[in-house]
Amino acid sequence: MATWIDFRELRQKLHFADVLRHYNVQAKVKGDRAYALCPLPGHPKRSDGKKRTPSLSVNFSRNIYNCFGCQNGENAIEFVAKMEGLDPKDADQFRQAALKAAEIFGIELSGRKDNGKRKRTVAEKSEPAAKNEPEATATASTLPVIINAPLDFELKHLDPTHSYLASRGFTPETIKHFGLGYCSKGMMQDRIAIPVHNSTGQLVGYAGRLVDDRKVSDEKPKYLFPGPRERDGRRWEFHKSDLLYNLHRIQKPVHDLIIVEGFASVWWLHQQGWPNVVALMGNSISIAQANSVRNVLQADGRLWILTDGDEAGVRCAHSILGRISPYRFVRWVKLNDGQQPTGCTSEGFRAMLSL
Ligand SMILES: [Zn+2]
Repeated sequence: MATWIDFRELRQKLHFADVLRHYNVQAKVKGDRAYALCPLPGHPKRSDGKKRTPSLSVNFSRNIYNCFGCQNGENAIEFVAKMEGLDPKDADQFRQAALKAAEIFGIELSGRKDNGKRKRTVAEKSEPAAKNEPEATATASTLPVIINAPLDFELKHLDPTHSYLASRGFTPETIKHFGLGYCSKGMMQDRIAIPVHNSTGQLVGYAGRLVDDRKVSDEKPKYLFPGPRERDGRRWEFHKSDLLYNLHRIQKPVHDLIIVEGFASVWWLHQQGWPNVVALMGNSISIAQANSVRNVLQADGRLWILTDGDEAGVRCAHSILGRISPYRFVRWVKLNDGQQPTGCTSEGFRAMLSL
């Protein structure tokens, strides 16, 4: 069985700014758009020797491009396909381009298997740029999809005194503030349950952190997120890329916001006296997350990137810079190799962040 490619996820993670940079496209950026000479191999050549004018325009927030020379209006994956000499209209070649894009840009895909039940979401259906995705439509089903719906239950009997949290230096106040606790049964067995809320503070799911790293395997990921469920004739999906962890606790609008990759960095910074922190719950920023950051930051506000000191952290920082720097002041506080925000003291943060 072929590994399922979640084209929606890939489109969210594939940033046009990175794509342009990768192919050395010199673009003029104006607000949400970029303009450039079209680099596509199929672009008609001028034979009259006149100076070329920029015909390619990219819309960053919609993640699509348009060229009035070659009459295209497609998304970033199709752009990569054409740059790689692949035909995006051919299902196999489109798929190949998607894998290629994920590889070039270091994008981790969820890697779910194609079980024939996967369907496109409401959001995807309304996106005009999604039309050339034969793989995605081939397995579409008719169930309506509901994304990040508020939960109608809360996990009970979580143990906030579990040694995992204390051993990582978290105080009872921090643990209580974030509603953390060890879960001994069910899906979340052997994990610290982490409540995840939407921007208005409704609980939309739990992430689970395995307390014993030695037990991490393909079946037991270090972090578990809610999988899709089908109930009452609907399909319920949890999309972490549409959420920013801890966003609902930030007083809006905020002047200084720190953005990190994972939960523990948020807890740690909070404990060190920096409450205005959000986490991506992954290592790239989606369009939806970038929009949330812009919405919560004052127009003259500042975003401080504090990703881990490793390769994924560097890539993550670049993805944030690409998406936010056209609109807001952004500063990347680059940690040394092997360093993580959770290893820093409050004095260290003060020196780094100069807030
Ligand atoms: Zn063109």
